[in-house]
Amino acid sequence: MFFLFGMNSFNRRSVTGPARCQFCGREALQEVVEHGTRVSVFFIPVWTFGRSYHVTCTACGRQSSASRREAAALARR
Ligand SMILES: [Zn+2]
Repeated sequence: MFFLFGMNSFNRRSVTGPARCQFCGREALQEVVEHGTRVSVFFIPVWTFGRSYHVTCTACGRQSSASRREAAALARR
């Protein structure tokens, strides 16, 4: 019997509705990128770790890190 393990990193991008940018102060679309690493068994993802979230303002292009809760709040807009 054998097991086939794999590990890969991923980036998931989503653009949210307009929100006020903390740098330029304008209402603009914010791009949220989730980065993480997945462990898979027989190509089925079973565990994700090392998640981080980055928010990029589409108006000024500045980037900041965000918590999972902040990213989820932006995605609901
Ligand atoms: Zn901005």
